[in-house]
Amino acid sequence: MHEIEEITELARSHRWRGVPSGQHVSRSGRNPYCGDVITLHVEVDGDQVLDVRYDGTGCLVSQGCAALLCERSTGKAVKELTSQTAAVLLDFDYTQLSLHRQACALLGYDILQRKLSELRTTRDESARREHD
Ligand SMILES: [Zn+2]
Repeated sequence: MHEIEEITELARSHRWRGVPSGQHVSRSGRNPYCGDVITLHVEVDGDQVLDVRYDGTGCLVSQGCAALLCERSTGKAVKELTSQTAAVLLDFDYTQLSLHRQACALLGYDILQRKLSELRTTRDESARREHD
């Protein structure tokens, strides 16, 4: 399990900031309670997530959890990522935070889940079209 100190360290290190070197898709999200903004850049090949990077501004919890999300998602299967809860995927017990901070911690995770389900829907539709 990650400690909150590791997460704020990760935010300060700027590790995982930027974009993947390969072709990628992006999605942004905002946490209105805190003003955090995060954009995730995801490089996917079929069912495999090759690389995840982020950009954004906001509190250390939101930025650090986005960095941790990148670290923990890179190299994993899409199916694995979409079946994992935020606590398992991040390996961080975010429920120890105040409700206000939990929204910061979950921002990146929510963006990733939306993007992956969007990618799956697009792929299913194009598969159907090919079948017709
Ligand atoms: Zn925040």
